[in-house]
Amino acid sequence: MLFSEIIGQEDLKKRLIASVKDGRVSHAQLFLGEEGTGNLPLALAYAQYIMCEDKQNQDACGVCSSCIKNQKLVHPDLHFVFPTANTEKAKSKPVSDIFLEEWREIVLDNNAYFSINQWQEKIQTENKALLIPAEESSEILKKLSLKTYESEYKVMIIWYPEKFNNSSANKLLKILEEPEPKTLFILVAHESEQLIPTILSRTQTFKVNKIETYDLSNSLVKLFQFSTVQATSISLLADGNFLEAKKIIETSEAEEFFYNLFTNWMRAAFKADVISLIKFSDDIQKIGREKQKQFISYCLHIFRESLINNFGSKELNKTTSTESQFLVKFAPFIHGANCLEIIELFNDAYYHIERNANPKILFLDVSFKLTKLLRVKTLVFE
Ligand SMILES: [Zn+2]
Repeated sequence: MLFSEIIGQEDLKKRLIASVKDGRVSHAQLFLGEEGTGNLPLALAYAQYIMCEDKQNQDACGVCSSCIKNQKLVHPDLHFVFPTANTEKAKSKPVSDIFLEEWREIVLDNNAYFSINQWQEKIQTENKALLIPAEESSEILKKLSLKTYESEYKVMIIWYPEKFNNSSANKLLKILEEPEPKTLFILVAHESEQLIPTILSRTQTFKVNKIETYDLSNSLVKLFQFSTVQATSISLLADGNFLEAKKIIETSEAEEFFYNLFTNWMRAAFKADVISLIKFSDDIQKIGREKQKQFISYCLHIFRESLINNFGSKELNKTTSTESQFLVKFAPFIHGANCLEIIELFNDAYYHIERNANPKILFLDVSFKLTKLLRVKTLVFE
């Protein structure tokens, strides 16, 4: 990874480059910052810079053989340690190397910006707590005893050292206390309180701050083609955290997607347009069970908001402006004479989707029931 690929953090990049130029590379360093600030990308760029055969003033060259191997995460002198758990693939002693392929994939697919939750999903731990197991310390020692293959330095990047268990943390401490020549440890940590204090005292800390709004916003313009105004407002909400910004973008995209799906569905159901309803159930089958559940929750939200709207309490509505406009026409169709049945219909649908019902048949059935329910007349008190 090149320094130029990292969002913001210009001061820190300069300090890291200067430390290499001045020959002040300390053997154990701690890159401490929240997920989404870029501490792992910085560690990777720093390792690549140190190993580069043709260092430039502000970055690695990006084209020498060492850079090319670093960029693919296959340099023989670049080692990784990260938390794992027992999985289908690693039934016991789940050391990092077993998951090296998945690790390379997640780093390369996300430009090294990803969360520990994403990692957990990637290696399918089924919600088991991630840890760096005791066996990893002997793996580290084994790797340290190897000669460097190609570069002057051996670099070991330890992602989430917070996840060492006590006995392996103590072994790591021992390793850090007796440094091997030309070996560099980069600990990429997120919460200093979860590290044992002796590890903190043995490492040189580089604090990775939140990304400046200006830098984050520029990157969103480049990566997602937002206007500067949009990008700035997302960046302010994300508070200097690139992963947070991505989450905000994904949520708003999901809401827009659900809104369109919902409004088209309701129109088709109201008109009893069978062809569109069949197409709808084909489409929704493709989005997967998790999204189908989220969509049902979205529908329930709009039904509830319709009732609130009908009671004339518009100031209580929790809807976007597009949704509010839609409710003006739609809300009157949800009323005392059908609301309980509609809500029950959707609660049942959620229940059955969770229990692996066939989504296509289920949504088609809901569609036909809705067609009837939406045509129920409002009760009139006489
Ligand atoms: Zn290079």
